[in-house]
Amino acid sequence: MATDRPSFDRRELTGPFDLIGDVHGCADELEELLGLLGYGVEWSGGDVRVTAPAGRIVVFVGDLVDRGPRTPDVLRIAMAMAEQGDALCVDGNHDNKFARWINGANVKAAHGLQASIDQMAAEDPAFHARVRKYLASLPPYLWLDDGKLVVAHAGLKDEMICHVNGKIRSFALYGDTTGETDGFGNPVRRNWALEYRGEAAIVYGHVAAPDVQETNNTWCIDTGCCFGGRLTALRWPERELVSVPARQVWFEGSRPLSERTR
Ligand code: MN
Repeated sequence: MATDRPSFDRRELTGPFDLIGDVHGCADELEELLGLLGYGVEWSGGDVRVTAPAGRIVVFVGDLVDRGPRTPDVLRIAMAMAEQGDALCVDGNHDNKFARWINGANVKAAHGLQASIDQMAAEDPAFHARVRKYLASLPPYLWLDDGKLVVAHAGLKDEMICHVNGKIRSFALYGDTTGETDGFGNPVRRNWALEYRGEAAIVYGHVAAPDVQETNNTWCIDTGCCFGGRLTALRWPERELVSVPARQVWFEGSRPLSERTR
């Protein structure tokens, strides 16, 4: 039955959750992390079967794609889990641009998109169609756990929770950008988390740093796996961190992960 409830409103889901940072095509590390969290990942042929520990739900903070070596497999894992109701994912800026590419838009293949394009060339039209449909289903953010938890790719301001419009979608995808770029060509961002005073915890990714950044009831869990850092999960409500190290540097960013800070 159709419902008028917006896609971000999943307050009825009370977890427990395993919140996973930016995967960026790093399927080896994702499989290892899921294993540490108690999930079973089994491949047979090109298909994957994932079993979840009773009651637990994975929530990806977005940026499943680009940079890493196995973007199609990361998508297979996320889609298989989503179909079983064992995982949710919010839209990330890379997923959003990849979706525009797979829908035929003329986008610039920068920041690791070319790796995804090359990998998708080996996949059949049915898989492309499945991915297109899945990416179109990703909500701009998720409001979970009776309203106590928000997952948004680049974060969210307190007053944006429960609303959605172009400005809010943009904030959730890109953060609090100033419109300027730094000496490396990266967008200049304000650290919105420093002023966050909301009651809902906000878990996000987008800004890679060597360690999880906990600020005012917000957690940035992007520990830069694709740059040779780690892939991190935050278990909720336990507030436990579980990480696996990157197998290698998969993508050379504009500066090393150790020099990346908020
Ligand atoms: Mn990212």
